[in-house]
Amino acid sequence: MSQHPITKAIRTQTDRTPEMEHSSPLFLTSSFCFDTAEEMRAAFADETDDNIYSRFTNPNVKEFVDKICALEGAEAGYATASGMSAIFASFMALMKKGDHLLSCNAIFGSTHTVITKFLPKYGMEHSYVSAAADAATWEAAIRPNTRMIYIETPTNPGLDIIDLEMVAAIAKKHNLILNVDNCFATPIGQRPIDLGADLVVHSATKWIDGQGRVLGGVIAGRADLIKDIYLFCRSTGPSLSAFNAWLLSKSLETLDVRMERHAANALRLAKALEGHAKVSWLKYPFLPSHPQHAIAIKQMKNGGGVVCFELKGGLESGRRFLDSLQMLSLTANLGDTRSIASHPASTTHAKLTPEERLAVNITPGLIRISTGLEHADDIIQDIVQALDKC
Ligand SMILES: *Cc1c(COP(=O)(O)O)cnc(C)c1O
Repeated sequence: MSQHPITKAIRTQTDRTPEMEHSSPLFLTSSFCFDTAEEMRAAFADETDDNIYSRFTNPNVKEFVDKICALEGAEAGYATASGMSAIFASFMALMKKGDHLLSCNAIFGSTHTVITKFLPKYGMEHSYVSAAADAATWEAAIRPNTRMIYIETPTNPGLDIIDLEMVAAIAKKHNLILNVDNCFATPIGQRPIDLGADLVVHSATKWIDGQGRVLGGVIAGRADLIKDIYLFCRSTGPSLSAFNAWLLSKSLETLDVRMERHAANALRLAKALEGHAKVSWLKYPFLPSHPQHAIAIKQMKNGGGVVCFELKGGLESGRRFLDSLQMLSLTANLGDTRSIASHPASTTHAKLTPEERLAVNITPGLIRISTGLEHADDIIQDIVQALDKC
């Protein structure tokens, strides 16, 4: 009997031990034992899938990866200690000196740093295309040495939406790897592999954990590509810890119900704030006013948990707004049960130049709200009273 992905994400489990536990135990062990020299030799020769050492594989990590693969519709996956190590590994394992990476320009701040500051040290080239670019612009940016297209949709923090089917068709035509950061939508909101992506990467720190506790990352997709990523990671060591995997795996069992509520709260918030006197514009993918609304409803099941808006008063209003909030948290994370307000220009994207920030629509008064699971009325009430003071 074939099961729905969300059922598999709940029912996938490590083999039951002789203790007959119901919930998965925590395999807090660095290494694994063999009964015989022959079994150990065979494991090291990759003739069996036996666990050897937790830098390579661990039952809790495997359970987490198997659930992600079920949710994303992926052939294989590998989990890492953070979202950034997943993204970095996907570049380093699959590209080499002289290769070119084509990326959308609106990407997570640290990803931008990796692409512009570190890849050039290893002789890898890059160029950026606007997140709003059409197919012809994407295609014109491809070079003879382009190896991978990297995109984030919705983008953090600007919530730009990129047409996954459009970019996937271009990647396929030119035989390029399409690598998608699916952190904001989660596999509940969108499944890039169904639309033609070769790989998805995640910061599991965000909605997947969903409770602001641990860092984690994961890459899922084509088995041949994941094999290369696994071989790179098993030697370089960005492995996810067993404890974090155990916790993130449990979190996946509630991802569907949590995302439904996060998205419902975000939509209510977006509708309540749209047109507010202190707000010059507001973006939420599932509001008709979003510039790429048609693409969003084509490829996403819900609009996700993030709402962003620009305060008319710019930087000073932004400060007053944050200082006037009574319930929302001021913190560098997102995707928590607790609603969070942030000001990207002074925090996550502060390392970009003002010109680079403007190129990706990070204006001085931009506020990003990660909508939590509190009652929507309470979230709206806190934000509206803070807006009244700025
Ligand atoms: C947070 C984030 C990352 C980085 O993940 P970490 O777990 O913090 O390393 C990458 N991409 C996006 C879209 C993010 O929001």
